[in-house]
Amino acid sequence: MRGLAFGLLALLTLGGCAVSDTVYPSPTIAAPISREPPGLNVYTAAPRAALHSELFACNSAGSNRGEIGPRGEAVAYTPYIHTAAGALLRNPTEMACLSSGFGWRGMADGGERQHNGLDLANPGGGFVYAAGDGWVSFADWRGGYGISVEIDHGQGVRTFYAHLSDVDTNLRPGVFVAAGQPIGRMGRTGNATGVHLHYEVQADGLTVDPLHYGAPPLETPVT
Ligand SMILES: [Zn+2]
Repeated sequence: MRGLAFGLLALLTLGGCAVSDTVYPSPTIAAPISREPPGLNVYTAAPRAALHSELFACNSAGSNRGEIGPRGEAVAYTPYIHTAAGALLRNPTEMACLSSGFGWRGMADGGERQHNGLDLANPGGGFVYAAGDGWVSFADWRGGYGISVEIDHGQGVRTFYAHLSDVDTNLRPGVFVAAGQPIGRMGRTGNATGVHLHYEVQADGLTVDPLHYGAPPLETPVT
């Protein structure tokens, strides 16, 4: 009964549209989120993004995540997305697991809907970082996406971050952000089933799969 209760709790608390059977351990954030008194900007003191060498699935039954290895790792994952505007972080969170991938996925009402990004979840929240150098093009509430930030990296490359709990109050359209700079914190604003980042990448006018797009070319074996 306790196991069932834990499973249900995990199902409720992990973000995105995860349908759970085996639940992998939740990612934990090494350092607690700083709670400075009002008036001080937590973002100026926050550490830059760490580069995550691996990305683990939140559970064994999420949708559209591609191949998941025996340790729960996303097989396709590499730390950077290579684009015309330079390298972008593929996982621009402090710590998260992959709860849903890019593509068509089943909905609770039995229908299917295109999911235009990755869902990167952590019940403990944490900072969300600019995936690359760029200029803020949007930082506000956007319908079902809740509190959202969009960054224009140039060369037709944009990234979009949704369901944030809050954003750095210095962010407004036109402001430059550096790669790895904390821009907001993971939350569940808008239509979200749990605390997670909805992360989108656009290149050449298309919304692309942030898990598979811009992977380094496979090395040709030397013969
Ligand atoms: Zn999403």
